[in-house]
Amino acid sequence: MEAELTENKELKALFHTFGCKLNFAETSTVAQMFADRGVSRAAKDERPDIIVVNSCSVTAEADKKCRQLIRSLHRRYPVAPILVTGCYAQLKPEEVAALEGVRVVAGSNQKLQLVQFLDRWMQTGEAVTEVTPTPAIRDFSPSCSRGDRTRYFLKVQDGCDYWCTYCTIPRARGRSRSGTIDQVVSQARAVAAEGGKEIVITGVNIGDFGKGRDDTFFDLIRELDGVEGIERYRISSIEPNLLTDEIIDWCAGSRAFMPHFHIPLQCGSDEVLRLMRRHYDTALFQSKIERIRAAMPDAFIGVDLIVGARGETDELFAESEAFVRSLDISRLHVFPYSERPGTRALEIGHVVSQHDKHVRDRRMIAVSDEKLLDFSRRFVSTVRPVLVEHDGSGFTDNYLRVHLGADAPIQDNTIVNVRLDSLDEATLEFNGTVVEP
Ligand code: SF4
Repeated sequence: MEAELTENKELKALFHTFGCKLNFAETSTVAQMFADRGVSRAAKDERPDIIVVNSCSVTAEADKKCRQLIRSLHRRYPVAPILVTGCYAQLKPEEVAALEGVRVVAGSNQKLQLVQFLDRWMQTGEAVTEVTPTPAIRDFSPSCSRGDRTRYFLKVQDGCDYWCTYCTIPRARGRSRSGTIDQVVSQARAVAAEGGKEIVITGVNIGDFGKGRDDTFFDLIRELDGVEGIERYRISSIEPNLLTDEIIDWCAGSRAFMPHFHIPLQCGSDEVLRLMRRHYDTALFQSKIERIRAAMPDAFIGVDLIVGARGETDELFAESEAFVRSLDISRLHVFPYSERPGTRALEIGHVVSQHDKHVRDRRMIAVSDEKLLDFSRRFVSTVRPVLVEHDGSGFTDNYLRVHLGADAPIQDNTIVNVRLDSLDEATLEFNGTVVEP
């Protein structure tokens, strides 16, 4: 079997990524490293010789989905070695290594060594598990997703020092660390050189860029704004306490930073925020929303919210819902709280039942639908720039999805002015017509 993998046969690899934009950027870099060794991506229905899974462990459900995928892939392709990396591999390497078909387990810090580990397994026939203990993770490995999307995910920062009580990410990805401004800017230039127009800046706690150094996230975005050829930047997600008024005002006047923000609130009750050990309160959060609306009235504002966290009594949930309803935001991303082993949240006595979690999840999703409908209606019959994607649709600068119709004579990856003719209130997406500049 191993011989087959090495000798004069063009090998195919299947890559599967769970989780965040950061994981997608990293998988793309790993795939490039395999390609440099002559291992290309397997097409959709092609039998792979190698399988790479980049896992997530943000919830118990994420771990379960990863196990289910590995089992089903092994059943389908019993001879293909499975290489697993990512947060689940970092947190539970033994559990992952015990799954049938898994030949390599690489921790968060070893993601970019998967090719070498595969070589080692092929030479020795012994399964490989390489995981740096989290406290020892110090290196920053740059990554940028290329080629499989119209927009590029550019990793600028990794790890986190915040230790919110419900979160396992600091234990999965290590201390906060970031690339240098030169490193990140040169990657943006490389994207521009291959014709990329839009970059999504991603990381774990990106506002923490430059921590322990003199440069800051604000310095980084100002440098990126000067990269010729990149016409759009989006800030993937930024902590409210790190989204300074200076950054908001500067984005409003920048050349290429889009009126689009994604800000984790997690709960609209100060008491629950305190139990979560978040670094802000509702007053600060509200002030950021108001600052954005004042500087960029049309900005899309997405907000993360956890429902049913430990300590969220009925009264505190009602407080949270009322606060969220009072905000002029565009949409919520709602997550039911997931118990995570080893987190400090487990020390909080009050536990919300599955039933109540489900009810709160439904309620907040309904609030989100109302917000997105209200926000979208403001733009009917207005004209916005749209980056056209492969299927004749695309996103406006303020992150509204528009369909141009398959017959629209527009080339992919071009930015055109589009009149948002009508809003489909079921899908909350627009139908639009290209208009002359
Ligand atoms: S800021 Fe909090 S929730 Fe976000 S990654 Fe860090 S510890 Fe987790």
